[in-house]
Amino acid sequence: MTRTFLCFLVLVCIACSSPTPRTFDGQAAYVHVVKQCELGPRPTGSEANRATGDYIISELEARGWTVETQEFTYRGTPVRNIIGKTGEGPVILLGAHYDTRRSADREDPSQPVLGANDGASGVAVLLELARTLERDKLKHQVWLTFFDAEDNGQLDGWEWCVGSSYMAAHLEVMPAAVVVVDMVGDADQQLYLEYNSDPTLQTQLWELAATLGYTQTFIPEYRFSIYDDHVPFAQRGIPAVDIIDFDYAYWHTTQDTPDKVSAASLERVGRVLEVWLEEKLR
Ligand SMILES: [Zn+2]
Repeated sequence: MTRTFLCFLVLVCIACSSPTPRTFDGQAAYVHVVKQCELGPRPTGSEANRATGDYIISELEARGWTVETQEFTYRGTPVRNIIGKTGEGPVILLGAHYDTRRSADREDPSQPVLGANDGASGVAVLLELARTLERDKLKHQVWLTFFDAEDNGQLDGWEWCVGSSYMAAHLEVMPAAVVVVDMVGDADQQLYLEYNSDPTLQTQLWELAATLGYTQTFIPEYRFSIYDDHVPFAQRGIPAVDIIDFDYAYWHTTQDTPDKVSAASLERVGRVLEVWLEEKLR
């Protein structure tokens, strides 16, 4: 056996035995923020929105998730929810909206919102979880759910949370729990308890965050009451939590750009969900 062949064998063995890192990586999640923003503003019905949905689907499929879509029309506009499914048992639904607001009405209503934090950050966390969740550790079926049409509320009579409301109204299986992540990427992260969220589940998640050392950012105090994608599920009696950082100066402005988002913030939220799903849920 030649030395070259031996080296080759050793290299092959290293390649076989070193698994892809399967711990949630904030930098990898941040790449998903950038890629979504490169498509431009992504309001429901736009070409960029469709392309974002296609990106989500291809990422889920590449990681071995079973993908379903839910398509319908709202006020003449096509809407598409996307669900990646894996595992068996009671359903845990993690959700984020992937559309962005078509009007930056807190600043200049004629301009759209790029939505690096408001939209892309939650999607990025779910897509990185699609890569890192280890199936053999899951005791539940997991649905990674990407809602369309969350963020045009009060524009020309549109409602908020159109995609998630549709999904909550058309459930064939009732999830055991729903956790929505929205605006989780702010570099100056402050995640407070939210009044419309299930108190028991919310407390579990914040306590878990504390065990991971995130007490500065998962702050166990109530602050806001938010109508977000968790509410349609909560209204059906499902324990539902919204992880959201609503102290974000660039919310619904043209300044909601990737430089305001940090990989470390994405990583903290992703790690909490990863540890919760893989180690805590029984
Ligand atoms: Zn928004």
